[in-house]
Amino acid sequence: MLWLEGNQPSGARPLAESGDSLPKQIREIAPKLSPGQYEKNFAEISPAMTRRQAAIEAARCLYCFDAPCIIACPTHIDVPSFIKKISTGNLKGSARVILEANILGHSCGRVCPTEVLCEGACVMHEKGEQPIEIGRLQRHSVDHVLDNAIQLFHAGAPNGKKVACIGAGPASLACAAELAKSGYQVTIFDRNELPGGLNTYGIAAYKLRANDAIREVGLVKHLGVKFEQKKEVGRDISFEFLEKTFDAIFIGVGLGETWALDLPGDNLRGVYGAIEFIEQTKSKPFADVQVGRRIACIGAGNTAIDVVTAARRLGAETVYLIYRRGEPEMPAFAYEYQLAKQDGVVFLWQTQPIRVLGEDGFVTGLECVRTNLGPPDSKGRRTPIPMPGTEFTIEVDMAVRAVGQKPVTEFLRAVKGIALNKDGTVQINDRHQTGNLQYFAGGDCTNGGKEVVDAVAEGMAAARGLDAALKNVPVGQER
Ligand SMILES: Cc1cc2nc3c(=O)[nH]c(=O)nc-3n(C[C@H](O)[C@H](O)[C@H](O)COP(=O)(O)OP(=O)(O)OC[C@H]3O[C@@H](n4cnc5c(N)ncnc54)[C@H](O)[C@@H]3O)c2cc1C
Ligand code: SF4
Repeated sequence: MLWLEGNQPSGARPLAESGDSLPKQIREIAPKLSPGQYEKNFAEISPAMTRRQAAIEAARCLYCFDAPCIIACPTHIDVPSFIKKISTGNLKGSARVILEANILGHSCGRVCPTEVLCEGACVMHEKGEQPIEIGRLQRHSVDHVLDNAIQLFHAGAPNGKKVACIGAGPASLACAAELAKSGYQVTIFDRNELPGGLNTYGIAAYKLRANDAIREVGLVKHLGVKFEQKKEVGRDISFEFLEKTFDAIFIGVGLGETWALDLPGDNLRGVYGAIEFIEQTKSKPFADVQVGRRIACIGAGNTAIDVVTAARRLGAETVYLIYRRGEPEMPAFAYEYQLAKQDGVVFLWQTQPIRVLGEDGFVTGLECVRTNLGPPDSKGRRTPIPMPGTEFTIEVDMAVRAVGQKPVTEFLRAVKGIALNKDGTVQINDRHQTGNLQYFAGGDCTNGGKEVVDAVAEGMAAARGLDAALKNVPVGQER
């Protein structure tokens, strides 16, 4: 048991100091924990390896020919090669192999869902053995160069061309780094105070802290890429300015807040969007994040898991995860689901909220109904059908929506030629070029929301497409 300090009965703890001065948004706030307890609860779930541990793990690798882990990694890092270098003590060389293929190898080593990517493809599974811990080994090598401020790459000889990137998330960072290495002068415009996108503001703090994400951005800064933070394109920076000043523009704006629930009462105080809540856990001291004593999260994807695990780690006593389908249909990865189970989250399957209940403007509960699962829909997912007469209520102080993120691409309609798909994603060709030939795009805003490593792969592919387009290389003959 980790969660309750000293494992005392929760009522025995005093309410904390720091959070009490904030305006009250939640009817009953979870009792505060000590700073040490928060740090313990948010300790890295995949901690760093010692040199010895890394050497032992690296020695287990079979260095397969045509290694399946290389194919399974969206950035195709030469995994056997970087692991071999660890086993010979060449950490700098190992990091070079990783970062050449993926400049965000530092965050990817911590946040990649390796069990469905490289480690999921490891041949050790066939032998009935544990897969090689590729993510942690990757982190071991890249930590070495970051900890020792070793600069492996430099800006290429200037080619006289300028590129703007919209957004400072993984897609733009990867695109910018690739272009800077080829001699482009790149400027990133981002609306947040700090760069890094969801690495800095979204991904669970027990996987990646904001300051580690920022430290990694240093690798891109070192290549001469300029960062203009708190600059929102379409508001502070016009498309006209970008088009006149830059030869090409990369769009890496990701996705936005979570969709509304459209339920009566969803404007009560204590109803949050998932991103809004998680962002607080990344940008404030844990003690300053308000969390309800009892909370419900609606949705069952990986973001919902981040919400419920963060809530428990912040001291919430009862945390429900509510999903209108059943456990087998849950979209979250099995590994993420395990985390929530270990954290003592209560799962309400085949349950649909129908009303947010409130008192004096604050959330006090959720009225829910049980569902039956009907025939599969067009996506093959069984349709939940509410069962009249099965309504029930649960008492909560906070309700969090985690039902998918909204697109933030509407502002691009002002650009002639850029087309958006029905779901708001930006239409691109194989070169990641939009219908307006000066604009390229990649990451969550084109794939609809995947993983960091996918955003990196797409940012790099866009950089190659952009370079080929500016050099008039015929389609299909890019490097
Ligand atoms: C809660 C949560 C947890 C996640 N956990 C994981 C995980 O554990 N592992 C994993 O691999 N992936 C995870 N992901 C997915 C991963 O974070 C994304 O796939 C990845 O960050 C996408 O990168 P991106 O660059 O496309 O977008 P983002 O990271 O969203 O970056 C986009 C940037 O563009 C900026 N921007 C938007 N509009 C404008 C504008 N008009 N002008 C200027 N700037 C603008 C935004 O402020 C932001 O900084 C998670 C996602 C969420 C929401
Ligand atoms: S980037 Fe991610 S998927 Fe690729 S090898 Fe590293 S940990 Fe595995």
